[in-house]
Amino acid sequence: MLLGRTKSDRPLHIVCAPGNERLIIITVYEPSLIEWEPDFKTREEMIVRVRAKIEVELAYRASEEELKKTTSLRCYFCGGRLRRTRTTYYSPLGIIVRDIPAFECEQCGEIYFDAKTSRKLDALVKNSARIMGEEENRLAAVFRNR
Ligand SMILES: [Zn+2]
Repeated sequence: MLLGRTKSDRPLHIVCAPGNERLIIITVYEPSLIEWEPDFKTREEMIVRVRAKIEVELAYRASEEELKKTTSLRCYFCGGRLRRTRTTYYSPLGIIVRDIPAFECEQCGEIYFDAKTSRKLDALVKNSARIMGEEENRLAAVFRNR
């Protein structure tokens, strides 16, 4: 394969094969910057990184009265009173889950989830991560097959 330039300086890739006393030109095309580095000699790594930020909202509707109720629960760390609240969870995978029912320590601010919410949160994050992984693979395949 040869790299050439047109009169107007557009890059050209010329794919050729040696024939009997002549060079057979198989194809000529203009390389794209999507697939090639700016020198048009190095093919870009065909890894498509799509880091979608998926925001998931839990369908949990705690009433304001519900949130004001005191609990008899105590903080594991400082022994402070736990009150009901709603919080946002930032997963290390970039998935954000908003409006999660939780307990917050009035003294140190530590956040607790009950077992049911923990399981639901875990399932949501895992499911979102799976969808993101599938989308990444799908896009990478699209670019590979061009
Ligand atoms: Zn505490």
